[in-house]
Amino acid sequence: MLSLDGIKAFYGTSQALFGIGFSVKRGEVVTLLGRNGMGKTTTINSIMGIVSPSSGSIKFEGVEITKLPSFKTANLGIGLVPEGRQIFPNLTVRENLVATASNHQKNDHPWSLEMIFDMFPELAERVHSMGNLLSGGEQQMLAIGRALMTNPQLLILDEATEGLAPLIREKIWHSLGQIRDNGLSILVVDKNVADLIKLADRHVIIEKGKVVWTGTSDDLQADVKLQQRYLGV
Ligand code: ATP
Repeated sequence: MLSLDGIKAFYGTSQALFGIGFSVKRGEVVTLLGRNGMGKTTTINSIMGIVSPSSGSIKFEGVEITKLPSFKTANLGIGLVPEGRQIFPNLTVRENLVATASNHQKNDHPWSLEMIFDMFPELAERVHSMGNLLSGGEQQMLAIGRALMTNPQLLILDEATEGLAPLIREKIWHSLGQIRDNGLSILVVDKNVADLIKLADRHVIIEKGKVVWTGTSDDLQADVKLQQRYLGV
């Protein structure tokens, strides 16, 4: 479904990605792991057209998306839950959900407000509240709901549960399980490796802008040295 090959990216003269390559298959949950500053966000932003790679290729459903602007990538069926959530602060919960809603891929059973509120009853209770009045957990639920309302085939989450309390984290992981069971593919960045091992099929570890390891949850779980070396857990 998604494939990256030889992606290099720079910020000015400083190189952040040194030839990233990996893939996500249909229906798969894949993680991007690595310590701080290793290039996970830059990789995601390259997929989304927020960072423009200097070389390499990114394909989604066989279409070259490497140089596409973000809105075109989104229209092709990739939904982003960005680091820091980036909720529209001066729109209500409902307005945040409908402002960018779309169904460009003609999904037969498109996401509706009711489906989002079934998944996150907390949002239904706050439907008329302004985005900036929500807790961090509610904002993350809203960011996921907003992305789902664009009816993506692939959902990308950057720091899915950063700064959230354990109970809220559990809710987010549970919702991602439901979303996966709905048939979506998921690419997720997070620091809670134990939770990711339970949720994901495969893991991609990035170190200094390069992929240094890929493997299944069982492989990762079994290799404590690998976890210590690249993830510091
Ligand atoms: P984190 O978990 O801390 O967000 P990350 O793995 O997502 O880390 P990136 O944010 O992609 O890593 O950063 C990769 C490298 O690029 C780092 O060396 C970082 O300092 C640098 N970098 C990131 N954003 C910028 C920017 N806007 N300008 C200059 N350098 C940047």
